[in-house]
Amino acid sequence: MRVVLLGPPGAGKGTQAQIIAGRLGVPAISTGDIFRANVSGGTELGTKAKVYMDAGDLVPDEITVAMVSDRLAEPDAKAGFLLDGFPRTIAQAEQLRSSLADLGQRLSCVLELVVDEDELVRRLSGRVVIVDGKPVQRDDDKPETVRHRLEVYHAQ
Ligand code: ADP
Repeated sequence: MRVVLLGPPGAGKGTQAQIIAGRLGVPAISTGDIFRANVSGGTELGTKAKVYMDAGDLVPDEITVAMVSDRLAEPDAKAGFLLDGFPRTIAQAEQLRSSLADLGQRLSCVLELVVDEDELVRRLSGRVVIVDGKPVQRDDDKPETVRHRLEVYHAQ
């Protein structure tokens, strides 16, 4: 199975991705998680991505697409995958289509999570994540940034 999970920030993509990928026995590939791992690891990719992430903007397509292509080329993604948070722009969608065509693969399905806007803001502004055993608010979950991320999602 090759699945794409779409939905605005706060819709619950990360949570559902883990459940669905677990049932299907395929890796859940989250672009947000890969970017955050690179930021914590202090890699060159992380340094580039952090500026955009902190502002609630999308990381430029060329950086994102190269990262996802590398990830999809890893052995565990050969038999299937669930993409969480990618594609998020038309250019990314077109790139995914051509990468899959090159591999002779097709998507099995696209799932879209639909959630009311006020509920999204409520969830994101109130959520905490656990870092090194402590609850913290993600830098991009501040209320102003949350509104901006939702605008970006709808615009793109
Ligand atoms: P959310 O969907 O809740 O905004 P994610 O964890 O999926 O959170 O993404 C966090 C940030 O990582 C995004 O705001 C953006 O800066 C970056 N990002 C994630 N996926 C993409 C993507 N496909 N294209 C560009 N930037 C991305």
